[in-house]
Amino acid sequence: MGSGARVAADQSAAAYARAVQLLPGGVNSPVRAMRSIGRDPIFVARGEGAELIDVDGNRYVDWVMSWGPLIAGHAHPDVVETVSAAAAAGTSFGAPTEAEVELAAEVVERVPSAEMVRMTSSGTEASMSAIRLARAATGRDTIVKFAGAYHGHVDGLLADAGSGLATQGIPASPGVTAAQAADTVVVPWNEPDALPDTGPAAVICEPYPANMGLVAPDEGFLQRLRDYADATGALLIFDEVITGFRVAPGGVQEREGVIPDIAVLGKVIGGGLPAAAYAASSDLMSWIAPAGSVYQAGTLSGNPIATAAGLATLRLLDASAYQRLNAVASALAAGLREGARTADIAVSTASTTGLLTLFFRERPPRNYAEARECDLDAYAAFCRGMLERGIYPPPSQFEAWFPSLAHGNEHVERTLEAAREVFAEL
Ligand code: PMP
Repeated sequence: MGSGARVAADQSAAAYARAVQLLPGGVNSPVRAMRSIGRDPIFVARGEGAELIDVDGNRYVDWVMSWGPLIAGHAHPDVVETVSAAAAAGTSFGAPTEAEVELAAEVVERVPSAEMVRMTSSGTEASMSAIRLARAATGRDTIVKFAGAYHGHVDGLLADAGSGLATQGIPASPGVTAAQAADTVVVPWNEPDALPDTGPAAVICEPYPANMGLVAPDEGFLQRLRDYADATGALLIFDEVITGFRVAPGGVQEREGVIPDIAVLGKVIGGGLPAAAYAASSDLMSWIAPAGSVYQAGTLSGNPIATAAGLATLRLLDASAYQRLNAVASALAAGLREGARTADIAVSTASTTGLLTLFFRERPPRNYAEARECDLDAYAAFCRGMLERGIYPPPSQFEAWFPSLAHGNEHVERTLEAAREVFAEL
């Protein structure tokens, strides 16, 4: 990989010029627009393993991987084959299939809190439904969420949210009613004393928050949330849309030994196709229609192609897969820190199995307020420099990098070589 500017951008520029006429901001989801790093988006032609190829023919080492679903890499042959076979057998039925039951069984086997599963098409739907279930089961309205956490674009959960809202600096979205906002209490992460005295319907958290960049829970904090929920009669919801099947087969709850009442799952469970789920004890899930009276439905829920992709992906995740996801994340984090240190640039990293963030801040943040102290201009310049060198980091300081099984030493080395050049220029 040579140094300096090297990518052509004519086709991407043309595609973007057309896109902004037809799609708001030129995209179908905000972070893709790359506005916060001060450039136009890259239009993708295809993906191969750990690499993206754009419409101008440039190749990039992809550290975004569709923001998490592609833990097996782009177009993994097992996933492509399974999906093709499923598509050939019919794309949607609106009637149950055996594969959905199979996928539910795979989830129950892995995720400690899961006895029964309901599938949806997006993480947003799954967290929205988990909250409806918690409200029904407790007879309460209030939800506690954490600043900088993102649970999808559910009205009541958009306050002080991470991900694209953090990236765009949107503290609260217009269009959310005062009543919906009033039912949400936002508290800082890692501050147990900030939890309200009156028990809510639910405390919802990303147990390893990854939408303000990756931020670790303090020692004992997740257990404090469990204890708080038990003491106040609230339900504890772990939104493991990012961490589920990624940081361990059973997600953070398995790693940390803190078991939520409801788990929200997404991304990896659909292997790159639209699928997500929420899961809980059989007792709690018995509230859900048609077993119970809490209504929740979806024309494409448990869609056969998405289900096939999810099953094929989960089957690739054996013990050695987690070792690799861990090794790549820690090698990349250590190399990025070392590269920045050599160039005398203040950065820190947070990393775990299959996830990391490079923060332009001396110490990794403990909460959203600290994450916002990062040098966002430096992060933007870093990203632009990396993209020019054929490396595609998340185009926002408030997102995680997503290593996959397709990433090997070669991709780490290429990334670190580019990073050393970019750090030297900053
Ligand atoms: N929860 C978390 C933790 C997420 O990271 C996301 C999406 N990045 C969602 C929920 C929403 O999922 P979706 O985009 O599939 O609606």
